[in-house]
Amino acid sequence: MSSSFFTPITGSVMPRFAGLATLMRLPYVGFDDAQFANVDIGLIGVPWDGGTTNRPGARHGPRQVRDISTMVRNVNRASGLKPFSVCNCADLGDTPVNPVDLMDSLHRIHAFYDKVCAAGIAPLSVGGDHLVSLPIMRALAKNGPIGMVHFDAHTDTWDGYFGGFKYTHGTPFRRAIEEGLLDPKRTIQIGIRGALYSDAEDTWGQEQGIRVIDIDEFHAMGLEAVMAEARRVVGDGQTYVSFDVDALDPVYAPGTGTPEIGGLTTLEAQRMVRMLQGLNLVGGDVVEVSPPFDPSGNTALVAATMMFEILCVLADSVSKKKTA
Ligand code: MN
Ligand code: MN
Repeated sequence: MSSSFFTPITGSVMPRFAGLATLMRLPYVGFDDAQFANVDIGLIGVPWDGGTTNRPGARHGPRQVRDISTMVRNVNRASGLKPFSVCNCADLGDTPVNPVDLMDSLHRIHAFYDKVCAAGIAPLSVGGDHLVSLPIMRALAKNGPIGMVHFDAHTDTWDGYFGGFKYTHGTPFRRAIEEGLLDPKRTIQIGIRGALYSDAEDTWGQEQGIRVIDIDEFHAMGLEAVMAEARRVVGDGQTYVSFDVDALDPVYAPGTGTPEIGGLTTLEAQRMVRMLQGLNLVGGDVVEVSPPFDPSGNTALVAATMMFEILCVLADSVSKKKTA
């Protein structure tokens, strides 16, 4: 059960447009606060896009998602899940970053998540570009490699850019596999598409054992079969959910660094995340929201809603482990 302190402020008491914007209207809990030890799931912003190779702006993602996430309500109509009733959820704020030093930012972000994980808090993050998943995994995978369900247009297993530089938003999962944080045989990538730099771009990950479901296979298999395959791949081990908003078609999420047409619909994405219920989930992220490329703000609404969908299945998993 969740305590009343961790219940989001309801729109029937304070209107949704009023008050300080926190993620999903949850209490803001800092590290020095006595409530920190009571948090089960921490919602965290990573305002950083230093790994972006093309169109920047994801550093502005957490601020806008905080604002739009005040639209989120408490009950998932489709699944019936009520995350705020079964887990203490809180906004842990933004991680420290250094916008002019990539390697220093990776250290700062990692140090923040070390504290979160040491407190037994499951992190649900909003980026930031996709490189932020790497320092998160460095903190999460302390006891051995984790599995991952990864929604994206891109595999993000490229080796290096600009003369072999190893840390960009196109490389996080190659680094995570090399560092022993991510088990490629328990990793599935869904929604992959778009033109390649070369024939060999995607082969490395598949050679390591990643199950790659590109957008054509997704449509050939159908949504239910794809998610049955995802459940088979990750099994009952610890599993992370990483959602790059460019997995969606740019008609739904134009505010992103590397849009690719021919993508998932928002409803397909919602349904797939709901089918993760019952897995051993340890955290998740929604990344690559770049507000400057979407003056409508819809990409942030999509991101906030996908965060809520992930939160529903994550809270179900975390609460069942607590009571087991
Ligand atoms: Mn990505
Ligand atoms: Mn992508």
